[in-house]
Amino acid sequence: MNTGLQLYNTLTRKKEPFEPLHAPNVGMYVCGPTVYSDVHLGNCRTFISFDLIFRYLKYAGYKVRYVRNITDAGHLEGDRDEGDDKFAKRAKLEQLEPMEIVQKYTIGFHDVMRMFNTLPPSIEPTATGHICEQIEMIKEIMDNGYAYEVGGTVYFDVDKYSKEYNYTILTNRNLEDMLANTRELGGQDEKHGRLDFALWIKAKPETLMQWPSPWGWGFPGWHIECSAMSSKYLGAEFDIHGGGMDLAATHHTNEIAQSEACSHKQPARYWMHTNMLTVNGARMSKSAGNGFLPGELFTGDHPLLEKGYSPMTVKFFMLQAHYRSTLDFSNEALDASEKGFRRLMSAMGLLDKLHASEGTDDFDIDAIRENCIRAMNDDFNSPVVIAELFEATRVINSVYDGKAKLSAAGLEKLKVLMHDFVSDIFGLKDEESSNVELNSVLDLMIDIRRSAKENKDYATSDKIRIGLQGIGIQLKDSKEGTTWNKI
Ligand code: AMP
Ligand code: ZN
Repeated sequence: MNTGLQLYNTLTRKKEPFEPLHAPNVGMYVCGPTVYSDVHLGNCRTFISFDLIFRYLKYAGYKVRYVRNITDAGHLEGDRDEGDDKFAKRAKLEQLEPMEIVQKYTIGFHDVMRMFNTLPPSIEPTATGHICEQIEMIKEIMDNGYAYEVGGTVYFDVDKYSKEYNYTILTNRNLEDMLANTRELGGQDEKHGRLDFALWIKAKPETLMQWPSPWGWGFPGWHIECSAMSSKYLGAEFDIHGGGMDLAATHHTNEIAQSEACSHKQPARYWMHTNMLTVNGARMSKSAGNGFLPGELFTGDHPLLEKGYSPMTVKFFMLQAHYRSTLDFSNEALDASEKGFRRLMSAMGLLDKLHASEGTDDFDIDAIRENCIRAMNDDFNSPVVIAELFEATRVINSVYDGKAKLSAAGLEKLKVLMHDFVSDIFGLKDEESSNVELNSVLDLMIDIRRSAKENKDYATSDKIRIGLQGIGIQLKDSKEGTTWNKI
């Protein structure tokens, strides 16, 4: 199966032809959210990027099993197994049971993903639902000699592993530099090497979420959950593993180490990383406090926002950047996206109103489609596809205005093109047209205006047109009738 798709592989640092292990089946694992608080817009960018990838792989004919986990335990504040458990801390703060926190923010995450019209993954496993699998994997790593226990905590032995495997394969960093940049071990440290990380952490009596294990009561380290769940649902070797770029250096590096120490296999053939959403150049993050919640963006209720933007405008804004480029948040950029998105949706609304002409087509719709496919096959280049869709928008408007012709076959190709790329692959939908009440009221206004014009009551017809313009709705007359769009 050759679809011509090329994707950038972080492992090899180049674009490669996509050759799944068991085509047409594709296994894709993406690190999901940590549900001790609301997801911010940066997290959403990563999940929207992988939704685009999931949708396009399906469109290209692959049968994709997309696994995206929910991290609902074992997340400490420090990068290196230190600090408080974030779930326990939040549970105390909100005076809730930790699993109430998990439930609350998982539901919130799903609500947001639905607003962005992303598809649910095929499997959404949770860390707490896979404690046995994690314990089994840790036992195997220990049996293979790559982990050791100290007083109820199990550490991964990076020194031993890196003698046989390349610990910095994903980041191409220098191991010596990494060691030099890591805190020296002190007298109270139990681990043997500076880079060693915990697979299982001994619980304190007050630890809220803890499970029995061969090493006593404790909880899993963060990295092991993804290795255990990806291998359970996709096998020891699968096709794509993804997440945000910030995960490559530690979380994904440790995932590779765990999997290799267990099965001696590099778990994923292609590692894909999405770039960060930034605010004034700084990465949006929960800890930096510059993370917009999607709800704040939709309502405009945030000091940095001049107004609210709809979920589809925000999604369109994100798709206008390539997933491997950084994307900086600004009111101006969102305003421009809002206009662009409306232009696209207005054109989509005209598609069913276009009339076919006799003779040859004035536009080559096949060429636009080929350009879109070429762009998506070039490592999912969504901004180039959007430029092509604006070309298609120009075609739609010209045909609607009677300035250009398309045959019935040409029109059908145009409809299929827009449906495939706008609806199926980008997952964009017209929020206005799904607002039934607004549509009905506007249809009524347009009808009253038409009657007024027929009766030569131009004062009323102008009042309607100018009045609607005043609230941001523009009427457009043509020989086919009157349509409207938001300005
Ligand atoms: P977390 O819930 O913090 O584990 O993050 C969930 C996902 O969002 C991970 O894949 C992160 O890499 C990703 N992520 C975090 N911050 C950003 C950001 N500012 N822009 C894009 N993705 C991000
Ligand atoms: Zn992960």
